[in-house]
Amino acid sequence: MKIPSLDLKRQYKNIQNEINSVVLDVLASQSFILGSRVESFEKSIVKYCGAKYAIGVASGTDALLLALMACGIKNGDEVITTPFTFFATAGSIARVGATPVFVDIDPVTYNIDVNKIASAVNSKTKAILPVHLFGQCAEMDTILEIARTGGLRVIEDAAQAIGAFYKGKQAGTIGDIGCFSFYPSKNLGAYGDGGLVTANDDGLAALVKSLRVHGSNTKYYHEYVGINSRLDSLQAAILSAKLKYLNEWSEKRRTVAAYYDEQLRETPVRIPEIMDCNTHIYHQYMIATPKRDLLKEHLSQQGIETVIYYPVPLHLQKCFEYLGYKPGDLPVSEKAANEVLALPIFPEITKEEQDYVVEQIKNFFTLL
Ligand SMILES: *Cc1c(COP(=O)(O)O)cnc(C)c1O
Repeated sequence: MKIPSLDLKRQYKNIQNEINSVVLDVLASQSFILGSRVESFEKSIVKYCGAKYAIGVASGTDALLLALMACGIKNGDEVITTPFTFFATAGSIARVGATPVFVDIDPVTYNIDVNKIASAVNSKTKAILPVHLFGQCAEMDTILEIARTGGLRVIEDAAQAIGAFYKGKQAGTIGDIGCFSFYPSKNLGAYGDGGLVTANDDGLAALVKSLRVHGSNTKYYHEYVGINSRLDSLQAAILSAKLKYLNEWSEKRRTVAAYYDEQLRETPVRIPEIMDCNTHIYHQYMIATPKRDLLKEHLSQQGIETVIYYPVPLHLQKCFEYLGYKPGDLPVSEKAANEVLALPIFPEITKEEQDYVVEQIKNFFTLL
């Protein structure tokens, strides 16, 4: 049996008529940038998440960049974040000229270890940038408390967590500003690049809105030096059509995860753990084992595609050598990078496929 880690063709097949029709509508309109379809999608996200503002942008990376710009983060500032995340989280901090300060992760959730944040705060610290990794929220109450005490901004990287809840609040609406990605493989994926910023603060939202169109509120008059980062009408139309299914898809992912949990609990692999206050959306279902590389090889030989998110923690990336970190500095992240493995998970995966994945994992450990 061949099992991909993600199969977007199955999703498209289920909603093909609807998607084709909205795409043709956009083509007929010949209106491609921002416009009514983007506004309408932004309104749907406001309703979905409960944030006051939603601003569509060109990618999740740009959402982070614009959030940092709107918070006034610049050269010489420090931003506290996790090293165990997709590169864009820290890349965006560096791109505004600030210094990413990496704090190790919690070994259970893989999110930033909030007990280690306070000691990383100093007079240069301007913001905390937690990531809701794999679809589970970071421990936001402690983060907000540290931020309040130090007068820091909180920017949430919710790229993997649309629809996830923390104590009744949606990911991306808990801090000052939330960043989302609609990269095709995300739980709400566009047919190309796309992203979005959420905010409750009028001033921050207005700034992001202006910064995404070169810092201009009136065409050809520029108050700030912004960037070009707009959401396409085509992507907005597709995302609006798909948003209606998002909760149903998240529920299916939870059902898949619960089945993996049940089947894998008694095996040597570590299964994901969820904090009581969280509702997970399982962007990824991560297992962990010191035998990770051998297990991955075995599964691959049996036709099962798995992915390592992420093999190199960001403090050890070549481009961040200038920050002076060395192996051993953030041991929990480094251990996770050596042990985690994402199993195939998507709403359309069949029970038969899941059984095969489980069977092959069990086989691996009996063959050892
Ligand atoms: C996907 C992702 C991003 C970046 O999103 P793009 O749309 O690919 O630019 C940022 N942070 C995290 C945690 C992500 O998973």
